[in-house]
Amino acid sequence: MADNQADMIIIGAGFAGLYMLHTARKLGLSARILEAGDGVGGTWYWNRYPGARCDVPSLEYSFQFDDDLQQEWQWSERYAPQAEILSYLNHVTDRFDLRGHIQFNTRVATASYDENSNRWTIESDEGQSHQAKFCVFATGCLSVSNKPNIQNEDLFKGPIYHTGQWSQQGVDFSDLNVAVVGTGSSAIQAIPVIAEQAASLSVFQRSAGYTVPAHNRPMDEAEQNAIKSNYARLRESASQQFSGNELFSNTRLASEMSAEEIRQECERRWEMGGLYWYGAFPDLLLDQKTNDMVADFFREKIQEIISDPELAKTLMPDTVFGCKRMSVDTDYYQTFNLPHVSLIDISESPIDAYTEKGLVIKDKEYEFDAIVLATGFDAMTGALDRIEIRGRQAQTLKEKWADGPLTYLGLQSAGFPNMFIITGPGSPSVLTNMIPSIEQHVEFVKDAIDYMHRNKFSVIEADVTAEDAWVAHVNEVAESTLLHSCNSWYLGANVPGKPRVFMPYLGFPPYVEKCEQVVKNEYEGFILK
Ligand code: FAD
Ligand code: NAP
Repeated sequence: MADNQADMIIIGAGFAGLYMLHTARKLGLSARILEAGDGVGGTWYWNRYPGARCDVPSLEYSFQFDDDLQQEWQWSERYAPQAEILSYLNHVTDRFDLRGHIQFNTRVATASYDENSNRWTIESDEGQSHQAKFCVFATGCLSVSNKPNIQNEDLFKGPIYHTGQWSQQGVDFSDLNVAVVGTGSSAIQAIPVIAEQAASLSVFQRSAGYTVPAHNRPMDEAEQNAIKSNYARLRESASQQFSGNELFSNTRLASEMSAEEIRQECERRWEMGGLYWYGAFPDLLLDQKTNDMVADFFREKIQEIISDPELAKTLMPDTVFGCKRMSVDTDYYQTFNLPHVSLIDISESPIDAYTEKGLVIKDKEYEFDAIVLATGFDAMTGALDRIEIRGRQAQTLKEKWADGPLTYLGLQSAGFPNMFIITGPGSPSVLTNMIPSIEQHVEFVKDAIDYMHRNKFSVIEADVTAEDAWVAHVNEVAESTLLHSCNSWYLGANVPGKPRVFMPYLGFPPYVEKCEQVVKNEYEGFILK
């Protein structure tokens, strides 16, 4: 086969692209990854900001498809830092002999399907062309940085960094006056570490979020060995949770518990640290009263930690708990007690412009040596929107999704045959531990292609009726929860002009069950030709 011809082209070399490549090769397909960066890792290649690490324990935030791999790899901390996750993904790449099938420094600009030849043509922004029968977008849910629209960026004399596109060489903030814009998960991880180096740190907060201590620690050998001696048990238990990771979920509703019992459970979860909070009460995201009690508990904790009562008040979130993704931190609130760290509340007055020396808000200038934008991502649709993807008709995917993404199971979109999205909108993706969700999607694609080969089908495409029904179901599930009630990136609300549609599907176990049912019913909802 010519160098630019393959059975499958995969775009993106993060967890999803790497596993898709490995799986396609095992299926006997010729497959190649095209990746914009000059290395593998995706999220863990780009997000090298100080303090970056996972917030799902590493023993779960890792592949489970190969038992030898998960047995042999040693995690050094409960929540591994960025560099270690990146080195894990490099290890996976070499262990499964994938590197030779990845083309780096290649940004895909267009992908178009030709009905006559039943092939996709994928072109880079430099005009290089590849052709394949299957086109798989493993482009990531959080891979396109969201830069705030602040005027006069060129005026500022110092460097401006975005957490999602961090310098590979690292940044030394020693003795500098630094600004951080944003208080989401990236900022919450970066702020305590930057504060250790900087002469002064000013944090610009538009809205306060919920964050819980990670209680990160070096990985306990005995704990790691105990889990590895029966890894399957942890993986199985995690797969039964709505988020695909172990939550130690309670089954008793908070509405059936006394105030004292609720308080005890909140204290217990605070001590456990991390995202286990989502398992505290089954009605947490359903019942406003339960949610209010948990939110009050968090506000009390902030009051206890922060010495200045006014500052404590500004740091207290007033939104529904869990509505925006909660963050997991190490000494976030404690950092604001330091004399060289200040919080600037911009909830009423946005940043107006850059100046030569810093930022201006309502005629007041703040001076800095460096500015860090921790302003998040154009999530879930951002990477796909930036590629001109044309299916059977002339319409692009972006045009089809103008009022919000339309997919069947988050895997395919009608009109785009033989094209798959890994963890696309409409699948559990970002509401879960992403690694099991990625593995489940890749394995679905593998099984579908295998089924096509065995039954001599050459085309698979989502049926538009099944797609409409699935999109309605995704919305119905989201609307039955409190997740609709804030300006989260799940709804696209962080990007000006983006349609307000809840994009991920809530519930890993029912989703997996639905996919299994679809397969059992010979790919119900897909058209095979
Ligand atoms: P990515 O890792 O985003 O990889 C996508 C790749 O596609 C990138 O390398 C990108 O360069 C490439 N690409 C995109 N467009 C193009 C194009 N046009 N041409 C060529 N290449 C392209 N999830 C969790 O479950 N737990 C966590 O603890 C967690 N921590 C996170 C921490 C941070 C800082 C961030 C930003 C996200 C975190 N996530 C976490 C979500 C994380 O994105 C996923 O867990 C996972 O890494 C996604 O893998 P992926 O392969 O799907 O996408
Ligand atoms: P984010 O959650 O979207 O947070 C962005 C922050 O920037 C918010 O505080 C937002 O304020 C603020 N902001 C955005 N535009 C602004 C503007 N124009 N002016 C002022 N402030 C602005 O992004 P993120 O922190 O990068 O995290 C995104 C997701 O990545 C997380 O939710 C999580 O899924 C994942 N992540 C995980 C970890 C981890 O712990 N493992 C770390 C980082 C990221 P508003 O809230 O008002 O919009």
